[in-house]
Amino acid sequence: MRTIQHWIAGAETTGTAPRFGPVYNPALGARQAQVALAEPADVDTAVQAAAEAFGQWREVSVSRRAKIMFAFRDLVERHIDRLAEVIADEHGKVLSDARGEVVRGLEVVEFACGIPQLLKGEFSEQVSTGVDACSFRQPLGVCAGITPFNFPAMVPLWMHPIAIAAGNTFVLKPSERDPSASNLIARLYAEAGLPDGVFNVVHGDKVAVDALLDHPDVAAVSFVGSTPIARYVHERASANGKRVQALGGAKNHAVVLPDADLDIAADQITAAAYGSAGQRCMAISAVVAVGDAGDGLVERLRERALAVRVGPGRDAASEMGPLITREAKDRIAGYVERGAAAGAELVVDGRRLRVDGHEDGFFLGPCLFDRVTTDMDVYRDEIFGPVLAVLRADTLDEAVDLVNANPFGNGTAIFTSSGRAARTFQHRVQVGMIGVNVPIPVPMAFHSFGGWKDSLFGDTHVHGPEGVRFYTRAKAVTSRWPEADHGERHRAHLNFPTAG
Ligand code: NAD
Repeated sequence: MRTIQHWIAGAETTGTAPRFGPVYNPALGARQAQVALAEPADVDTAVQAAAEAFGQWREVSVSRRAKIMFAFRDLVERHIDRLAEVIADEHGKVLSDARGEVVRGLEVVEFACGIPQLLKGEFSEQVSTGVDACSFRQPLGVCAGITPFNFPAMVPLWMHPIAIAAGNTFVLKPSERDPSASNLIARLYAEAGLPDGVFNVVHGDKVAVDALLDHPDVAAVSFVGSTPIARYVHERASANGKRVQALGGAKNHAVVLPDADLDIAADQITAAAYGSAGQRCMAISAVVAVGDAGDGLVERLRERALAVRVGPGRDAASEMGPLITREAKDRIAGYVERGAAAGAELVVDGRRLRVDGHEDGFFLGPCLFDRVTTDMDVYRDEIFGPVLAVLRADTLDEAVDLVNANPFGNGTAIFTSSGRAARTFQHRVQVGMIGVNVPIPVPMAFHSFGGWKDSLFGDTHVHGPEGVRFYTRAKAVTSRWPEADHGERHRAHLNFPTAG
């Protein structure tokens, strides 16, 4: 069986390797490889390699770092198809969707190519007589990234291009469920001319994560994953004195007003609910139908859910692939069962779906509930599967209150033809990313990405300007060059210095 190894200091290694985890092909439901699970000693080897590389990498000129990013950008683009295949085979998502995630990740690399501009400091001349002041930002050291299964290329790409371009070195701990994309990325960095040790990959589970959170030479931790683990990572890494950003789970609502074009709304919501089998942190999993929008919307959603073509990710005809594991499929089917038992109306039941030739695959068809209420666990929990819940509200105010009462605050969308309603919504809603007639409002790389409330722990969002701030720290210099030979007297006073 193929073994997926760590990538440390420019080479693959199984490390101490007493443990391995299974890597499945979700479309076949079969084990296709095993991945080495790092022990603390392996994490230490990777962090030491990154710490050693930091000494030289931070001295490399910012324009040389940008050139390497340009070369890396080119290589990723040339390998998009290969990356998409690796993702489709281990995650299960369809090839076109996998390509899409690489393209969105590539946008962050393009942003990082502008690092000379992004790191430009500030200078003030003559802040006091003969005194100048400047401030600029410097890298932190070894940064760690801990990432989820659902975007095995894009989410790590939110982090390491900016961290590395800013002069840091990086240790990535990707999801152990679909680890191969990270090794391919590591090879592309090496081909682009990135020195050994600047980008490292350790595969593993909680053992590896804890070793990173506790390692004294890790300066900063970026985490993306579920809310309980995000909270834990934030607390433990913060207690260890590290800078932390930890992005958590989501329950993203689409509010549909009666003045919306219901066909457009239903098309967009269907794509956002069932794309990637609902395994996106920005997936729409709850619809709030306002006033008399409900019945017409549910009928349109029903037609579209039934029309979604479910099949293996490698089949160009498939629009939606399988779930990541059998456990995920069984867990989500359990939610469907409980939702129906709790009194929600099961309009489309995807549990009966069979995919010919892939009977063992982890497939679950689109599921649609109507008349869901906020006390049902099909609404309260992040299901992270192809299950869409429709709730009803009488007014926009009631819909906004409902969204704001939810503990998650990652993304949300409103469908309306009223600019005034859209403005009220975007002003009042307590959510980090908002779409107006746009169902998955993932910001472009030159803006920052992040949620509110239980969807993000820490102060900064990822990529964009906040990403640059996260991976750097400020330094301010005040300087004077006295000309003693020319008789200039600079008397030092014991009182606190003020400008003169
Ligand atoms: P997860 O929380 O199970 O795993 C994320 C990472 O944490 C993985 O690398 C995993 O190995 C590690 N991990 C898991 N359990 C751990 C533990 N007990 N202690 C320490 N580390 C642990 O998440 P997942 O199932 O891989 O991904 C899906 C989740 O990620 C969803 O909740 C989704 O909403 C969220 N997500 C959020 C965003 C965002 O931007 N907010 C983006 C993508 C995914």
